[in-house]
Amino acid sequence: MRISKVVDLSQVVDSSTQIYPGDPVPSLHPATTIEADGFNVLHVHIGSHTGTHVDAPYHFVSDGARIDEVPLASFLGVGVVADVSGREPRSRIGWADLAPYESVLGPGRILLLRTGWSEYFGTERYYDHPFLDGDAARRLMDLGVRTVGIDALSPDETVLDGPPSDFAVHHTISRAGGIIAENLTRLADIDFADPLVSLLPIKLGGADGAPIRAIASEIINS
Ligand SMILES: [Zn+2]
Repeated sequence: MRISKVVDLSQVVDSSTQIYPGDPVPSLHPATTIEADGFNVLHVHIGSHTGTHVDAPYHFVSDGARIDEVPLASFLGVGVVADVSGREPRSRIGWADLAPYESVLGPGRILLLRTGWSEYFGTERYYDHPFLDGDAARRLMDLGVRTVGIDALSPDETVLDGPPSDFAVHHTISRAGGIIAENLTRLADIDFADPLVSLLPIKLGGADGAPIRAIASEIINS
């Protein structure tokens, strides 16, 4: 067995990384330098949901699993990329869009929603992403899927003004003990079958989520 290709599904985290409205503003700057101290160390101030990251059930369920309690198998699995690209801003992704993938969805599978919206990362338009319908999320849980990723800010609509979102998708997946990965990118580069997807988070004690280095690997048996 060997790895023939690795696709980096992660956004860069730095002081200019776009955040969810209201989240901590990232600040990364040198704490020490080789010139002054003999070694480089970075001071990193970020939120638990900065950049490409996963949400633990505890993000929305007060007695849900925290990021260091979630079984690691939830972050690893064969990915199923659902092409839901080319949509209007703030359009709803319904079950009809996911039904073509039903036969390959099930326990252990990682559903990756490819909206294409990662192309707008860092711009105002990034907030106007398509989002998943709450009933579609319920159907996914009924099929046994427990890990859902998206190349956008959130699988729920991001409301900038007006009444807040009901976070139907976050609630449905979190209550089922599932995991959500947000701000993925380069999903179109997964051009091979059965990608091994890794969404392993930093082991932040008691946290509601954590940054990840998301990758998809092509595994060849030889
Ligand atoms: Zn999050």
